[in-house]
Amino acid sequence: MSVTHYIDGKYTAESDRKQALFNPATGEQSGEVSLASVTETEAAIASAKAAFPAWSEMSPLRRARVMFKFKALVEENIDELAALITKEHGKVLEDAKGELTRGLEVVEFACGIPHLLKGEMTEQIGSGIDAWSLNQPLGVVAGISPFNFPVMVPMWMFPIAIACGNTFVMKPSEKDPSSTLRIAELLTEAGLPDGVFNVVNGDKEAVDVLLTHPDVQAVSFVGSTPIAEYIYSTASAHGKRVQALGGAKNHMVVMPDADLDQAVAGLMGAAYGSAGERCMAISVAVAVGNVADALIEKLTPKVKELRVGNGVIEGMEMGPLVTKEHLSKVEGYVAKGVEEGADLLVDGRGVQAEGGDGYFLGGCLFDNVTPEMTIYRDEIFGPVLSVVRVPDYATAVKLINEHEFGNGTAIFTQNGDAARQFCHEIQVGMVGVNVPIPVPMAFHSFGGWKRSLFGSLHVHGPDGVRFYTRRKAITARWPTGLRANADFIMPTMK
Ligand code: NAD
Repeated sequence: MSVTHYIDGKYTAESDRKQALFNPATGEQSGEVSLASVTETEAAIASAKAAFPAWSEMSPLRRARVMFKFKALVEENIDELAALITKEHGKVLEDAKGELTRGLEVVEFACGIPHLLKGEMTEQIGSGIDAWSLNQPLGVVAGISPFNFPVMVPMWMFPIAIACGNTFVMKPSEKDPSSTLRIAELLTEAGLPDGVFNVVNGDKEAVDVLLTHPDVQAVSFVGSTPIAEYIYSTASAHGKRVQALGGAKNHMVVMPDADLDQAVAGLMGAAYGSAGERCMAISVAVAVGNVADALIEKLTPKVKELRVGNGVIEGMEMGPLVTKEHLSKVEGYVAKGVEEGADLLVDGRGVQAEGGDGYFLGGCLFDNVTPEMTIYRDEIFGPVLSVVRVPDYATAVKLINEHEFGNGTAIFTQNGDAARQFCHEIQVGMVGVNVPIPVPMAFHSFGGWKRSLFGSLHVHGPDGVRFYTRRKAITARWPTGLRANADFIMPTMK
């Protein structure tokens, strides 16, 4: 299978440079993806630029109707899309469907764009004068997404961007691009005019064009922190609006009064779901006071019993890691944890996976992890959970607030006062109370603090509409004749 680009409503020819695609569950090569050159990326931008005048002039209601159709088409094709995700990413089929459902929520939000685009109006702001604000699209905007949510993360971006009247160039991850391309086909089928949504596959060469091209007005990025910093600084220096969401290290605090069964169930899904390859995965359990031993006792057998295998087999709880290189990187962290003195209670290396001998790592569980250790500081992005023991609530909060990342966090407790105080003082963008993965619904905005996000606006929800529009403030009067002479002092409303 040869995966090319989708520009101006159709697939292009293959690029000169290509990269192999693999099924991570079997390790077999499944095809090749073209890596866009400067010229090919410029062609996508030119197509989006040409489509902008007509698309932006179309009424918001008509744009919303395309979104309604698109939503129905994704639902009709959900099995096929989920299979494409599982084949290239490895996550289990049900999880792939969950990703699609969460992405569709943003499409549903974008269907309300006629309401969301309304500006503000003040009649009679001065005598005989009215004032109002408009929200207008920016022009051509670009999105660059990571491998771990090949459909959901692009859907955090383009539904709102195009519903606002912008045209889009998407650069998905080169590791699992096929589902994003299928989305482009469905948009065309839904009636989206050619050129409004284009997909270029590629690497730094394509990305650099998107960051610097004068016709690109805004860049939305989701990926690792070093790349997010590069994207933010480069695109901002070229005068673009940027939101760049980066990496994470998410802590879950387990208070002594927590319902331990719920906390353990929450940790299992949040740490090991999608093989830990989620930016909101919990990678640190902070056990407060005397809860640690009981927590470990309940957690250990569950981690050992995780069903690991090819995501197409029903009942699997965890699929493979995305690439061979990523598997060795994560295994390297497990070795490092042992070397630095943490207690490896469950070692998933060499796991016997069902239905494939691809890039599998079983669940790993470390106890007695300390803040100086590499496995505590770095984002591992694999099925590795570290338990850090702290004496009290205040130490837990200090630990989290001192970490360089601030994407998500959670507290499990039955004490409303502790939970409320935690929400108030924690330096993290998204907080769960007895909810392990507090990903905001589509009509709220998603984003972290500290080195988990660069830029001022979060993604989707109300911030998404703000990011993809610019304001215009209008002050108007309709005098029947020239009622006053020219004024040379600063105008004040009378
Ligand atoms: P990545 O940073 O390697 O890649 C992200 C995108 O950047 C890809 O499209 C890739 O092609 C491109 N890219 C890679 N290197 C580049 C370079 N040198 N110059 C320009 N572009 C480059 O991330 P990944 O491994 O695909 O995804 C995992 C990371 O994404 C994790 O760190 C995870 O936490 C993060 N993530 C964050 C969020 C969030 O909301 N904060 C959500 C999902 C994933």
